[in-house]
Amino acid sequence: MASVKREAIKRPIDECACDWCGRFLTVGDAVFVDLKHGTAYCRRACAERDAIERGYGPVCLGVD
Ligand SMILES: [Zn+2]
Repeated sequence: MASVKREAIKRPIDECACDWCGRFLTVGDAVFVDLKHGTAYCRRACAERDAIERGYGPVCLGVD
């Protein structure tokens, strides 16, 4: 499970695209930020998928 923090995009400067599916997130949208890897996602499921694909998924749990 990826460790992500749920935030809201408050300013246009914070707008970004989901690192997994590419969906563009705009002001007012929720964004799930992976602080450890510096990535952002439109939903938790995207963070999970990306973590697994990159190989730092469940196998790395607890390793910091
Ligand atoms: Zn996404």
